[in-house]
Amino acid sequence: MDLKKVRKISIIIYSVFAVLMLLMVITLKAPFGIAAVGVLIAYGLFVSTFWRCPKCGKALGYLWAKHCSDCGEKIC
Ligand SMILES: [Zn+2]
Repeated sequence: MDLKKVRKISIIIYSVFAVLMLLMVITLKAPFGIAAVGVLIAYGLFVSTFWRCPKCGKALGYLWAKHCSDCGEKIC
């Protein structure tokens, strides 16, 4: 998958997580927290699967990474 797209989708998933956490804090309703944890797990899976160096395949870590920490390949 295109890394720009991966970054965009990751940010969207993370935003959903943040909104759910906020809703839980405001409403004090546990289901929002449970949903937030679910979204966070989905985020982790998505990032660890797709947020990888196109050259060496190593996980890139931070979403704002500009270069691969392993081989130095430039990231979008
Ligand atoms: Zn690399």
